[in-house]
Amino acid sequence: MKTIGLIGGMSWESTAEYYRILNERTRERLGGLHSARCVLYSVDFAEIEGLQVQGRWAEAGEVLADAARSLSAAGAELLLICTNTMHRVADSVEAATPVPLLHIADATADAVHGAGLRRVGLLGTAFTMEQEFYRGRLAASGLDVLVPDAEGRALVHRVIYDELCLGVVRDDSREAYRQVVADLIARGAEGVILGCTEIELLLGPEDSPVPLFPTARLHAEAAVDAALSD
Ligand code: GLU
Repeated sequence: MKTIGLIGGMSWESTAEYYRILNERTRERLGGLHSARCVLYSVDFAEIEGLQVQGRWAEAGEVLADAARSLSAAGAELLLICTNTMHRVADSVEAATPVPLLHIADATADAVHGAGLRRVGLLGTAFTMEQEFYRGRLAASGLDVLVPDAEGRALVHRVIYDELCLGVVRDDSREAYRQVVADLIARGAEGVILGCTEIELLLGPEDSPVPLFPTARLHAEAAVDAALSD
């Protein structure tokens, strides 16, 4: 099994899930006491969030590129950025080392195509829902992507940073998200991408009549599958 390098801590609430899912998937695939070979570089999310809100993406990219170099030196053979939003700087991470990066939007698009769906809703941070780096990559794979209206996007974004990244999971926020999902379905979404790695801490299959695509899970599982292939 190849060693998986995780660039995490954005937030650590979802990186902890990555660690669990990597190990569960490895046990499922290999059985017995097998567990995932992995190395984690966990950043201080306050620093990254500060750079995000100021639009200082190049500097944020340098922080993640440094993490990638450290992981490479520690033996990583495959890299994951454990957040959708920070794929905004995926190019910097890819340029930092020859270690291949498994892009979260590709793992997600594969799952959506595998389910036979084409038109999907996307929930995530405002950066992910509004900028091209993520939606464009999904669209390039052949998906038709819908995002919530401005009010819905503001709500989804606020709950991510003010609650989920702090480990706060509230019933009223779950209810509000369910309404946003229902609006996307009414507009034609056949499935909904949980395009922020913390949203799956709040929403599960029982919260939607259409399939949900939890990106942390899909990304971590795809990484184990890639680490086990030659
Ligand atoms: N984990 C989140 C994501 O998947 C948001 C935190 C961040 O800004 O990186 O986008």
